[in-house]
Amino acid sequence: MAVNSSIAFDLPPLPTYTLQPRENLLDPLPDNVLALLLPIVAYWALSMVYHYLDVNDYFVEYRLHTPAEVLKRNRVTRWEVVRDVVLQQIIQTVAGLAFVYFDAEETVGREEYDVAVWAQRLRIFQKTIPSLLALVGVDAVGLSKSMSQSGHTILAGALAGGSYPSATQSQILESGAEVLAPAFMGWELAVAGFIFWYFVPALQFMLAICIVDTWQYFLHRAMHLNRWLYGEFIRTLSLISYLTATVTFHSRHHRLYVPYAFGALYNHPFEGFLLDTAGTGIGFLVSGMNTRQAMWFFTMSTIKTVDDHCGYEFPWDPLQHFTSNNAAYHDIHHQSWGIKSNFSQPFFIFWDRLLGTQWTGDIQQRYERARENAQKQVDLDAIKAAEAAPAVTVTEEREHERVIVSPEGPATRTRLRRKTVDSLKGPSHGVPGSVLHN
Ligand SMILES: [Zn+2]
Ligand SMILES: [Zn+2]
Repeated sequence: MAVNSSIAFDLPPLPTYTLQPRENLLDPLPDNVLALLLPIVAYWALSMVYHYLDVNDYFVEYRLHTPAEVLKRNRVTRWEVVRDVVLQQIIQTVAGLAFVYFDAEETVGREEYDVAVWAQRLRIFQKTIPSLLALVGVDAVGLSKSMSQSGHTILAGALAGGSYPSATQSQILESGAEVLAPAFMGWELAVAGFIFWYFVPALQFMLAICIVDTWQYFLHRAMHLNRWLYGEFIRTLSLISYLTATVTFHSRHHRLYVPYAFGALYNHPFEGFLLDTAGTGIGFLVSGMNTRQAMWFFTMSTIKTVDDHCGYEFPWDPLQHFTSNNAAYHDIHHQSWGIKSNFSQPFFIFWDRLLGTQWTGDIQQRYERARENAQKQVDLDAIKAAEAAPAVTVTEEREHERVIVSPEGPATRTRLRRKTVDSLKGPSHGVPGSVLHN
């Protein structure tokens, strides 16, 4: 078949493609269902790592609060926290499954085509270079010739408006005729591949992160400004109080003055759905992510939220240095004195900075005071227990003291029996010695 020597295309033609369904990552589980389950697995896996550190008193020097504070300052038991988190995760999964039901099947096969589309855009941009340079008085054609003579052929081609006479390919037309067509240069395909595989996804993640941060900042702040949305602390266990608790929202999360990892999603179910589920869902939809990207995004958002409540300020935890929003930053928001500041969550703190809601006062003394108060309460409980207890053997008396200081259920009592008095004190915080020693 004769090859037509004349170039029949202005731009390199795009390749054809065939679409086929994307294979599941963990067959037979559909990817979009896996995207809903992975964040839950990540939530509990990371939470259990932190919980293991908590109960075994590892890395106490990096703790933001002492165990005495955990005992005395939180207004909710760990089991209530687990119950409400599981409820929120059920609601989140059901909402996700309802969305997945209407989801179109994802396909693969047009990636090479999409890369070529970006390469074409690059070529079109190059065509504007001579006129752009002419605007600032540069003769692009003359410059291109001198570049070509000095061996810089790629730069010469770009300056000449994307002209690469040596880059051609044969193309079969619909009529069956074979013609010569321009081809992409290797660098054009490499840059286009980078844009398609990395740059655009990075932009999508940044957009989704900005949407989630913005959504959560303003709703979170509104929940603190509006008395009804915030609600009141429930200090009794009466039925009326419980029912009241069901019509107030954000105060539930603030029953944790001393946050711990699996308390991250301890919220009123309505608040949890509105802030977390809807926030990340809108971020995912607006940024146009595919299911594989959503897996990363949902899971990373969850891991970040857990890390922000972990109660440790680790110098080597990359998540704590990735942005200024970390466990120490969010912990301030959980304190009674910092509750009207540091609303930003979970990624960046630009809204706090822009709108002047970032905590700027001293924190050292306030933290120290809270530690001392909690320790005093623990000590006081121990004195009362010692006074009330019959004088039996020393071992039995100590055992009794530790049971008495527990405000929680049997699980805590069991744990406390194993704990030494030093671990209650928290060695890095300089809290005065406990009378539990005596
Ligand atoms: Zn809050
Ligand atoms: Zn929180």
